[in-house]
Amino acid sequence: MKAIQAVRGMRDITPEESGRWAIIEQSIANIFSRYGYREIRMPLVETTALFHRSIGEVTDIVEKEMYTFPDRNDESLALRPEGTAGCVRAVIENGLLNVPQKLWYCGPMFRYEKPQKGRHRQFHQVGAEVFGYADVNVEAEMILLNQRFWNDLGVLDNVNLELNNIGDSEARAHFKQALVSYLSAHTASLDADSVRRLESNPLRILDSKNNGTQSLLNDAPKMVDYLSTGSVERLEKLTSILQKQGVKVKHNQRLVRGLDYYNDTVFEWVSDDLGAQGTVCGGGRYDKLVEQLGGKPTPAIGFAMGLERLYLLLEANQFKSLHDHHRPDAYIIVAAPNYQEYAFQLSEKIRNALPDFAVMQNLAATSMKSQFKKADKSGAKYALVIGEDEVANQTVSLKHLQTGEQFSFGTADDLASLFKHLDTSD
Ligand code: ATP
Ligand code: MG
Repeated sequence: MKAIQAVRGMRDITPEESGRWAIIEQSIANIFSRYGYREIRMPLVETTALFHRSIGEVTDIVEKEMYTFPDRNDESLALRPEGTAGCVRAVIENGLLNVPQKLWYCGPMFRYEKPQKGRHRQFHQVGAEVFGYADVNVEAEMILLNQRFWNDLGVLDNVNLELNNIGDSEARAHFKQALVSYLSAHTASLDADSVRRLESNPLRILDSKNNGTQSLLNDAPKMVDYLSTGSVERLEKLTSILQKQGVKVKHNQRLVRGLDYYNDTVFEWVSDDLGAQGTVCGGGRYDKLVEQLGGKPTPAIGFAMGLERLYLLLEANQFKSLHDHHRPDAYIIVAAPNYQEYAFQLSEKIRNALPDFAVMQNLAATSMKSQFKKADKSGAKYALVIGEDEVANQTVSLKHLQTGEQFSFGTADDLASLFKHLDTSD
């Protein structure tokens, strides 16, 4: 019979990869808590209206990337394409806005896009949203937190921060007008998508990938000339704080981001190691969104990072600072199937005594030779061998799998105390 396949653009994370995913997620969760962020978990399904009202009608996501469906009651629902809208809904609904909130989340997002490397229809984001801080310090802290991700995962030299300020809605309206009138005079040099966006979402033209459009933009009006002094100062102050903390800041006038709700600060972390899908992480301030979704006016800022892209970035750099935790520390080998009972006794004793120690018990009745092969292949440092003598005397033999060195020990209790002195580092 023909096997049923996964949905296009949706992939499994295999056991070969899941150990690394877990390490990446743990290291990120740990950094969040060190900066005082708490986790929030939202549903994967929201009303379609939520995304229309927040992300914006003329964005790529709402126009063509959402998975929407009527439920049995004919309400239009959507698989979440991103986390900010749901998070804002959640903080309003749960009354969390009386005090500032620093929140993070992690989970799958869904977008109907053309699947390719670093672009999937179900993908995973780690995101954060901070509510209640208007000052630029919150931008600075958030970007420093991002920088710590890269640093701890060993890819700090492989990402670059791009920063821009897109002003308030008034500045943007004036700039949009100037941009449209400039580009309208040159429509012959614009790509088709950009001509369409001239009507619907002219700012998105700034990040068009088309070369003709990009060179046309060299002489176009510049956003910075339309910013209020407040916005200009925000960009300068943020740049200065970050530079003093050792962040390399690149100003990118054409960085606008794909969603409607941003104002002022926007940023992206971009890598050259990822081909066309170079943005690993992007974020920005969205001071009007809470109010727009029915909450009290609350300044806010957030970012989202694509975990598949982060994984590819780490892979391109040989996962160099990731320790492989799924490797067992010791592998138990039994000389005969009826020694398994003693093997259980031993492995459970070790697990009780050493919570961080991973013991793999061979559960199949195979030859010693094949068990030793499996032990080698597992990457374990030690084999614990149980033969006739060991069972009779309630002892165990320990073999260092790399050096071949052998020791014999008394009881399983002695062994547990011995392990405390063994080197279990990589
Ligand atoms: P892109 O320009 O690559 O489509 P975007 O601006 O749509 O990105 P955001 O909505 O800002 O992306 O999402 C934040 C991050 O989530 C991206 O920087 C990227 O790392 C990741 N991401 C977005 N869409 C996908 C996808 N379809 N597959 C995998 N990762 C994605
Ligand atoms: Mg996109």
